[in-house]
Amino acid sequence: MTRALGAAGELAIRSLIERAPLASSLADAYKTAGFRLALVGGSVRDAILGRLSNDLDFTTNANPQVSKKILSKWAENVWDTGIAFGTVVGKRGDTTVEVTTYRSESYESDSRKPDVQYGDSLEGDLWRRDFTVNAMALELTQGAPVFVDPYNGLKDLGNRILRTPNKAEQSFSDDPLRMMRAARFASQLNFDVAEDVLQAMRDMAGRISIISAERVRDEFSKLLMSDNPRTGISLLVDVGLADIVLPEIPKLKLEIDEHHHHKDVYEHSLTVLEQAIALEARLGGPNLVIRLAALLHDVGKPKTRSHIQGGGVSFHHHEVVGARLAKERLKKLRFDGDTVEQVATLIALHLRFHGYGQGEWTDSAVRRYVRDAGDLLPHLHVLTRADCTTRNKRKAEALAATYQSLEDRIAELMEQEELSKIRPDLDGEQVMSLLNIKPSAAVGNALDFLLELRLENGPLGEERATEALKKWWASRP
Ligand code: ATP
Ligand code: MG
Repeated sequence: MTRALGAAGELAIRSLIERAPLASSLADAYKTAGFRLALVGGSVRDAILGRLSNDLDFTTNANPQVSKKILSKWAENVWDTGIAFGTVVGKRGDTTVEVTTYRSESYESDSRKPDVQYGDSLEGDLWRRDFTVNAMALELTQGAPVFVDPYNGLKDLGNRILRTPNKAEQSFSDDPLRMMRAARFASQLNFDVAEDVLQAMRDMAGRISIISAERVRDEFSKLLMSDNPRTGISLLVDVGLADIVLPEIPKLKLEIDEHHHHKDVYEHSLTVLEQAIALEARLGGPNLVIRLAALLHDVGKPKTRSHIQGGGVSFHHHEVVGARLAKERLKKLRFDGDTVEQVATLIALHLRFHGYGQGEWTDSAVRRYVRDAGDLLPHLHVLTRADCTTRNKRKAEALAATYQSLEDRIAELMEQEELSKIRPDLDGEQVMSLLNIKPSAAVGNALDFLLELRLENGPLGEERATEALKKWWASRP
């Protein structure tokens, strides 16, 4: 089964030796203990593609407990949280190694947990892997490194195509998560998906529902954070997986936008996502929150569509509905609370700028915009700018210029007032002593009143704030 080492295999070894000298020292540790060790999976694939990271995947014939012992001597830190699945993780320097005992697993059709069975051969282990390009190994304990590629992964890598070692349908039946992984790798590696794999994804899409939300979320996040998420998202939508894991997205296909162009909201959303990615440098690089917000910003449209008399459609309050729908979906996918809140806030605010007109906002409206966006202001800038997909260049330029004028005004006001730190002109102590009251809800109400006043008028100074506070207090029912 072992193939002669081709040029790419040689390259893989060289890049491995250059970039991961630790691999051979780990191999020595296993060899000395009388076991075999092979670099495998994503690491071999990435080494050949010239994108090897500091995470290395290995497979061994040592059982998990023994493997843990060997790894413990070699690594500085060891984690065994995956030991029930045969995996032990170790860290040495800045390299993380994941060593998994040879497996030949089978899943019960309706169970969420794989029924792990350990195997006795490297080829058998490679057979149960997701794609042929992930089913190559570099055996490191049999003298010179041996490149093992029983399912022609190297050829598929050259052709940039995802195939399964086993029959695709069987493979997805064993572990439906592999369908999400196909979409993820299509995006990440910019690979095609073989026709039989696509067909199996269409046929088996429903099976994804047995997979835990966390595992689906992790693959989806990797897809979304790749350079070209459109590829993976389109794939999920085309084969019907999105109908189950992210149904709000395919529903956008039914919506024609309000300008009556024959562009659906789905296409618009993918373009907004790409335009947001193009602006991500403003956020310091790839950013999950902005990508989720861009993709989901219009999910409220299908629910809020109404036909206007005389033709046309409107989507009143779709940002409010959209924020709620996005929140529910992201919670179901078990995204963390901060991410969910931030995405929902951005969606809720994404239309606010459209009230800006040609710059008619008062200073107080600008202050509220900044205040409501809070730490997400840079994200809101990106989302709002990205949310312009008109093909009319003049219109697009005009919109960008108007947004720039808003950003300039924010910068000016910030400088004058340090907007982000807006506080009422008086603090709680002052309120209590001026009104002669004890700590109570009334103090909070008074501070809310002062904050409103501050947002409305800019800084008042202590004297005017005191006057206003007393007036407000006296006029309370
Ligand atoms: P990356 O680490 O860049 O996300 P990877 O290919 O290393 O990509 P991992 O999730 O780290 O992906 O998995 C390591 C290897 O384990 C894969 O390359 C593949 O061989 C195998 N693998 C992982 N998950 C599955 C699965 N659900 N079914 C079959 N094989 C899998
Ligand atoms: Mg990996």
